[in-house]
Amino acid sequence: MLTIFKRLPLLHRALICLFAALIIMALFFLPDPAQLSQHRSNYQVGKLYSLPIDESLLNRSEVTTLPRVTRWENIVVRPGESAAVLFKRIGQSSGLLHRLIHSDPQINKQLSLLRPNDELFFGFNKQDQLIQIRRQLSTFETFVVNKTTDGFRAEIEQKQVNVQFNYTEATITSSFWNAAIDANLTPNQIMSVAGIFGWDIDFALDIRPQDSFKLLYEEKIVEGEIVDQGRILAAQFSNQGQTFKAILDEESGNYYDEQGRAMKKAFLRSPVDFRRVTSNFNPNRRHPVTGKVTAHRGTDYAAPVGTPIYSAGDGVVLKSGYNQFNGNYVFIKHSNTYITKYLHLQKRRVKGGQRVKQGETIGTLGGTGRVTGPHLHYEFLVNGVHKNPRTVKLPQSKSLTGSKKQQFLSLAQQRLTELERYRTLLTAHVD
Ligand SMILES: [Zn+2]
Repeated sequence: MLTIFKRLPLLHRALICLFAALIIMALFFLPDPAQLSQHRSNYQVGKLYSLPIDESLLNRSEVTTLPRVTRWENIVVRPGESAAVLFKRIGQSSGLLHRLIHSDPQINKQLSLLRPNDELFFGFNKQDQLIQIRRQLSTFETFVVNKTTDGFRAEIEQKQVNVQFNYTEATITSSFWNAAIDANLTPNQIMSVAGIFGWDIDFALDIRPQDSFKLLYEEKIVEGEIVDQGRILAAQFSNQGQTFKAILDEESGNYYDEQGRAMKKAFLRSPVDFRRVTSNFNPNRRHPVTGKVTAHRGTDYAAPVGTPIYSAGDGVVLKSGYNQFNGNYVFIKHSNTYITKYLHLQKRRVKGGQRVKQGETIGTLGGTGRVTGPHLHYEFLVNGVHKNPRTVKLPQSKSLTGSKKQQFLSLAQQRLTELERYRTLLTAHVD
């Protein structure tokens, strides 16, 4: 070993000695782990320690250094005020507005969408130049314009939205609307429920005291606070002793019952928005003009003149006309079997031969023809015979099939179980 060493050139020998010395020194000078942890515990909570950062290592192009806003101005849009008028009012030049709207189409869009009472926040720097504009679009979205070295840039700032489930239920005593408000539903959710069951239940005329509903729905959470009540995930509605269940298929946004049959059917139960209907006519009443008790061959909806009237199903307008008995009337043919009739309209909105979609407005409620007061007289005919749309057998609704159905059925079971679980969890009495 030593002879090999001696045979090496002098320079190599010197280097080997030097490295050996360095290794021995390092062994002596390295702090032992115990000492290290002791050193760490010397840091104090709340004290500021500077970290050495080599600025030359930062990629400058990726670092956006925005100028600092030193003053905010809260601007409320006045009636009839355009962006041009607003800029003038707050002492900003039209040149600045021009630069803003031409640097980003999104800025142009937002500034041309101003409505009275909209709130904008203008941020200025030390030199009093406009460098930021903020406009809250929703609880979780803010439109932000920033001044950059090459013009103005727009972006949407988004807060994280978390979703959780909630449950509610109610038994109807006065009206569906009142019960739903008491059950803490939003107007949107109430209309959703009426929409989900609108093919099975006539919310204008068929609701009775002791009807009830149970709902599992979404709540949106932003920064720990409930900001919105969202979709109805599962719902159960008991109407006149009959119970209907509906579960949302999140993929399609459609509702199906627990057997995978579509809630949407060929005919709406009511051709009028239930919120507008004021009273239920007595079906055995005397005819308001002839005074005779006649078998009433239709359903009457009393609502304010001008209330929109919807087509109960897809079809073609068979007749749109006027006579002294019916007033303004519209007949719609849905198939060779089904015809619906709408009488006493104030205005007709469709012409003979025109195709109409379910829910499309075909006219407005009025008091034309032989009537004592404004109302819609609605008739449902099956093979030319008047039928009660509530009791008549209607075309089967579409069902899910195949793997889609299997997938939905397990989701439906899961949702209905959750509905029950939340019900026991949230309605347990504490006494
Ligand atoms: Zn009638």
